[in-house]
Amino acid sequence: MPHINRKPFVGGNWKMNTNATDGLALVEAVADGIGNDSVDVAVYPPFVYLRDIASKAQGSNLVVGAQDCWYEAKGAFTGEVSTEMLTDCRVGSVLTGHSERRHVIGESDELVNLKTKAGIAAGLVTVLCVGETLDQREAGQTDAVNETQIRSGLADVGEGSLGLVVIAYEPVWAIGTGKTATPEDAQNAHATIRALIALMYSQQAANAIRIIYGGSMKPGNANELMAMPDIDGGLIGGAALTPGDFLAIIQAGAAQTA
Ligand code: PEP
Repeated sequence: MPHINRKPFVGGNWKMNTNATDGLALVEAVADGIGNDSVDVAVYPPFVYLRDIASKAQGSNLVVGAQDCWYEAKGAFTGEVSTEMLTDCRVGSVLTGHSERRHVIGESDELVNLKTKAGIAAGLVTVLCVGETLDQREAGQTDAVNETQIRSGLADVGEGSLGLVVIAYEPVWAIGTGKTATPEDAQNAHATIRALIALMYSQQAANAIRIIYGGSMKPGNANELMAMPDIDGGLIGGAALTPGDFLAIIQAGAAQTA
């Protein structure tokens, strides 16, 4: 049986898109459409809309998450948002180390680790994003980059906390480009990541952790990607902004559990 009973996880990263009105309409459509809870579903709206959107999603199976967080509880960190502020707004999940934070904003592995630990400490489902650039891929460094980002991202994270962690493998060259890793290439990367978790923690931890794929996942390719034994769901950017597409991807996740 594929996926060793891991519950699929599908996240929708809205990035810096929507407005107050469109965001509420989008979350309503998703919350109404997800149906049963055979898939864990989360959406990641912009910070400023989180409180309203989380209120709108209350009572549904949908988790509302943040695209980033800061690692200190409070203080002189102009422009930043703490995990306490997130939980205060009924946020249940956070992304850390998204490639746009790493490569556009310039976040280091050390900062990603601090944010990952803060997310876990706050009880948030913490989605640690990793993945190689095109240059790194062409240089044959995919597995080495993933290993570095995972070892540093999870530094000082104990096995007992891994239940709150989801790893998102997102090849940078596939994000927002319309290019998708082949299911076989993605599966290879996921299997290597799972073997690394076994090495760092235990085989039990490796069997349990969800490793999801991100990079131009859409209704037309979600099934074949998620059918791979080590691909436990998806992190979706562009297609998460259209309820029908996002719901179809969730359905592809649900089909893996049938
Ligand atoms: C993402 O932002 O994590 C992502 C995978 O984006 P897209 O689906 O648009 O490639």
